[in-house]
Amino acid sequence: MYQEVHFDNIAERAHAPEIADLLQRFERYAAGSDGASFDGLDAELTPLYGDDLMIIQPTGDGDYLYRSCGVGIARDVGRNLAGGRVSSMTPQVARFTTECYDRALATSQPVHTVHRSVKTTRVMLWERLIMPTAAANGERVLIVFSKPLHFSEELLMTVLDTSPTGIVALRAIRDEEGNIARTVVITANRRAAEIAGDPERLLLDGEARDVLPFLADDMVWRRCLYAIELRRSDVFETCFTATGREVWLQVSLAPLRDGLVMTLNDISELMIANLTLQSRAATLAFEIRRERATSRALSQELGRREEREQELRRLAETDPLTTLLNRRSLIDKAQAAIEASAAIGEATSLFVIDLDHFKQINDGHGHAAGDAVIRAFADLLLGHMRPSHLVGRLGGEEFAVVLPGTGAAEARRLAERFQALLRATHLPVTEELDLQVSASIGIATHLPGESFGAFVARADKQLYRAKNEGRDCVRCADDRISAAA
Ligand code: GH3
Ligand code: MG
Ligand code: MG
Repeated sequence: MYQEVHFDNIAERAHAPEIADLLQRFERYAAGSDGASFDGLDAELTPLYGDDLMIIQPTGDGDYLYRSCGVGIARDVGRNLAGGRVSSMTPQVARFTTECYDRALATSQPVHTVHRSVKTTRVMLWERLIMPTAAANGERVLIVFSKPLHFSEELLMTVLDTSPTGIVALRAIRDEEGNIARTVVITANRRAAEIAGDPERLLLDGEARDVLPFLADDMVWRRCLYAIELRRSDVFETCFTATGREVWLQVSLAPLRDGLVMTLNDISELMIANLTLQSRAATLAFEIRRERATSRALSQELGRREEREQELRRLAETDPLTTLLNRRSLIDKAQAAIEASAAIGEATSLFVIDLDHFKQINDGHGHAAGDAVIRAFADLLLGHMRPSHLVGRLGGEEFAVVLPGTGAAEARRLAERFQALLRATHLPVTEELDLQVSASIGIATHLPGESFGAFVARADKQLYRAKNEGRDCVRCADDRISAAA
């Protein structure tokens, strides 16, 4: 049981404003050693505070008797205590009360107490001022001021009125058939009135649908009725217009007796923020899609350009008649290949090849037949060489092959094998015509530090030798190297 007992600084501790005055009056009558004189004090206090006073006497057997009980106390307790005894109260309260009364009589000093009532349901805490007195006949008498503390109720009201949440309690009023005829607002805080559109508006005792505009929505109202009838909690969001503004509310319903308590949260800002966020997200998603489409188009365009550039590069590098490397790109690639081989200590050799008596083919079969021979010869040559070899057409019926990683001996073997192949081949010219040709080949192997021009010139020189020495043969810059080597 909650209890407080005070002997000092009573006036400061007291909740009821009457207590300070009572103490002052008590002091004035407290001349005797048994406490104040009863008759004088009683006569003075009764007209002023009689409703909240009890006159109590010890019975001599450790108990106390209520001689009288103020109407205020009788009302709050629910019955008049006069004629009853302290011992008839619940044991805990009786024990506490007896101890306090004993103490007041023993010290002849007032005692201030606060305790929780265990019997009544409405009042939670009682405050008492126990004043010990002595009657003219010498009997000890207690004058007890007793008042309920409305603290809890005040606290509740303060909490309600400072709450940022709107709170409304409704009670259902039913007709004779038991159907809900009306719903009346029995509690509403300030915030609820604000949400209803007017902070000064009195919601109390009003018909709920008249004073709360969001209940005009039939769906919302039906949910309220369900909550009352089915005694079921509910939470939902609703939107209504108050003083020209669109308000979003989150409404929670909790059944209470034959009615309900609704808590109202204005979530308009949240909804606006949410809508803004949603629209931003949509814009962002749209921009991302557009960005992706743009970058897809861009990468497709880049791909197309890359392909075109590759095609152009290929065209720039190749000889249109034979698709072999042209002179310029052969020179570029040869230079890089020679350097790469030299870097790993390997040799690079070079063939310069010229078809023998080509003029006769042109003269005998026409220029177109000559072209066909050049093309067929190119195919044969390319087929004979390895992928690492660079095969090019220098012009006319003159070709060159750069052979990285190939020394003079191997180069010569390769050249002679090709000549043998050529001798055994009929080059197709038209469907009806094929021709046999021979070629002269000059070979050189690259010397350290030698320019490509000088390198070609040495191979050329060997080609002339081959031409001069009967054609259809291979001549090598270093003649010590023979096919047999
Ligand atoms: P050889 O080399 O054995 O000394 O005799 P050749 O008859 O082959 O003599 P040369 O190399 O001097 O002549 C090459 C001829 O090739 C000259 C030219 O009419 C012809 N010619 C050059 N370019 C082309 C071409 O693109 N197509 C054709 N059909 N003929 C070409
Ligand atoms: Mg020729
Ligand atoms: Mg020629």
